[in-house]
Amino acid sequence: AAKDVGKNSFHFFNDQMLIDISKALELESELQTALDQEQFCLFLQPKFDLVTGVLDSFEALVRWRHPEKGMIMPNHFIPQMEEGELIFQLGRWVISHGLNIIKGLEKSGLGKYKLAVNLSARQFCDDKLVDYLKDCLSDISGDRLELEITENVLIHSSGLAASVMKQANELGVTVALDDFGTGYSSLSYLRQLPVDVIKLDRSFIAPTEDNQESRMIVESVIDLAHKLNKTVVAEGIETQEHLTFLQNSRCDSAQGFLLSKPIDEIDLPDILAKGEVKQQAFDRILPDAT
Ligand code: C2E
Ligand code: MG
Ligand code: MG
Ligand code: MG
Repeated sequence: AAKDVGKNSFHFFNDQMLIDISKALELESELQTALDQEQFCLFLQPKFDLVTGVLDSFEALVRWRHPEKGMIMPNHFIPQMEEGELIFQLGRWVISHGLNIIKGLEKSGLGKYKLAVNLSARQFCDDKLVDYLKDCLSDISGDRLELEITENVLIHSSGLAASVMKQANELGVTVALDDFGTGYSSLSYLRQLPVDVIKLDRSFIAPTEDNQESRMIVESVIDLAHKLNKTVVAEGIETQEHLTFLQNSRCDSAQGFLLSKPIDEIDLPDILAKGEVKQQAFDRILPDAT
């Protein structure tokens, strides 16, 4: 039997796996360099109040501006960073850099916006996170920051995450449950956790266009959220039909390619100064709201 085990474990590490491991190690060291040399950047996606059409906040979406490979999307490096300690460094950078952008826009008279950042599971279980937030919020009010957390994050770590969320709440920071509806036990989380906002995943929004049951589900979730004193953001608004439906369903805020794609932080001041983003939202929202 011992011989069999040995044989099996020999086969366990085949050539492909060794290649994968060395690729992963290479990526790991490239990512550390990227952090040290500030190769990461933020794209900011506008979020609009569905009643007034006003742009009131931005979601920070991280990108890796790779010196040779160009722009790399988060699904290509976040999972790898989540396995080690790098995710903590990246997460802290997103919060402080994102807030600096928001502060800069306000100083330049380009508007007073809220920032939403995505946090990884492990970050939400980091008891030093709250101290870090306090530092970042020394010169801006806590209610200008929202932390987005995905449901599956909570499955393994509900107790600790809940305590971090409560402490964030005490700083005025709001918490949004991201990708709502794609995880497990969504409804019990709503009861257990100090969540202020529900972010409906775009897989919920897409089928509302031609499916009556999908529309009923979305309407019911919005009603339920409101009864529980929570607000609802819909993500992935891609068509005028989505927008009209969500306005009629009393959804509070919306985000999506129809309204605006995520904007490179470098271009953002200019785009806001020219009124390009705001204009677009009013054009699309007001005709239906009146
Ligand atoms: P998410 O938080 O659900 O972010 C929304 C994603 O949907 C973004 O992709 C955004 O570009 C995309 N999106 C927005 N509007 C539309 C639309 O109308 N249609 C479609 N098809 N897509 C739309 P992105 O930037 O590739 O981010 C993917 C995920 O990566 C995010 O999902 C989030 O979970 C994660 N992520 C992004 N930035 C960070 C970060 O700083 N930290 C962590 N931990 N995760 C991040
Ligand atoms: Mg998000
Ligand atoms: Mg989503
Ligand atoms: Mg989302």
